[in-house]
Amino acid sequence: MTMTSGPLSAATLELLFPGTEAADHERILHAVEAVDAVCPSGNAVWEWSPDHAAFPGTDAPGVPEILLKEIPLYDADSEWLGLEFDVEWTEDGELKVCVAVGVACWCEVNHGTHYGDSLNVPVGGSTSLAEAFEAAAAKLTTWLGGSRDPEWWRNLAGLPSRVAGMSGGE
Ligand SMILES: [Zn+2]
Repeated sequence: MTMTSGPLSAATLELLFPGTEAADHERILHAVEAVDAVCPSGNAVWEWSPDHAAFPGTDAPGVPEILLKEIPLYDADSEWLGLEFDVEWTEDGELKVCVAVGVACWCEVNHGTHYGDSLNVPVGGSTSLAEAFEAAAAKLTTWLGGSRDPEWWRNLAGLPSRVAGMSGGE
């Protein structure tokens, strides 16, 4: 799968979401700018996959992501915290916009990433893609104003703490 990266533009949105209108692109770019503005590094980089602009079906392995942004908040000493924003296809060929707080796993078995919190906004019915972007961006902005401590997010989600994880030995 080919991912392209850079700042988002109306042209890119037209490519990724065929059938959406200029007014939608404007709202989406506003939501995107709001997210970029509050990123700690001020980084405006997004990744996207034009291959997934059309629903690729369910035969291909992995989640068909169309657009993705990762915002690392903390990464040191085997401990990390980061936010994700992505637009992907559901198994039914519907779009959804997802945001999540990814946090390091300190379970006895290392599962990799856990979600301290997440929000999935399905597109369709009365919810337009632009509305889904706005809802997801608002949630992500709220998280960015919150704790940057991975342990705080694990506690919130009821996940094993790092202290407990370390007592089992390295
Ligand atoms: Zn785990």
